[in-house]
Amino acid sequence: MILKKTEVGVYSANCYIIADEQSREGIIIDPGGDADKIMKFVKDNKLLIKYIVLTHAHGDHIGGVNEVLSETDAVLCVHKDDLFILKDRKKNFTSQMRGPIVEIRDAKLLEDGDVLQVGDMSFKIIHTPGHSPGGICIYIKDVLFTGDTLFANNIGRGDLIGGDEAQLIRSIKARLMELPDATTAYPGHGPATRIGIERMTNPYLK
Ligand SMILES: [Zn+2]
Ligand SMILES: [Zn+2]
Repeated sequence: MILKKTEVGVYSANCYIIADEQSREGIIIDPGGDADKIMKFVKDNKLLIKYIVLTHAHGDHIGGVNEVLSETDAVLCVHKDDLFILKDRKKNFTSQMRGPIVEIRDAKLLEDGDVLQVGDMSFKIIHTPGHSPGGICIYIKDVLFTGDTLFANNIGRGDLIGGDEAQLIRSIKARLMELPDATTAYPGHGPATRIGIERMTNPYLK
């Protein structure tokens, strides 16, 4: 499995490109900006991007969506409870950020338990509301992409539109802490961590 992390946009969001080495098919998680940098990796590695998957619809995670869509045949995917944020430049904050204003009318809507099949890879969608109503984590084998739900030694904000910190902590405890200790968590900002480390040391999960 090819796994490329690249920091994009003015808020240094982590964009991840994951692809199957054999079929070259892959997905892009959270193209938050710097689409040229993302597309360079895609082209250099001759990848066929099937899906753009958003961990949630905040501006720092969606700034590069339109450019990547225009340069690939990818299908944009967002959890159904974040579509109202994706559709609204004020709610997704892109009208207040440096960078492109993003308003997207439609996307493939995801629900908890959905599986996106790409080449040999199965990406399982885990709904973890609390940072935003449609926040998701994306699970494949020993790897979890956590967006702004869980960070190394921290959690996402609960005070944005539709957010709720108590719900966020419940989501993490119920859905993410049940995963094996050795699962690597790749967050939407900052360094990677492991589920076992967060279970032991994350101050919000005591
Ligand atoms: Zn966010
Ligand atoms: Zn973010």
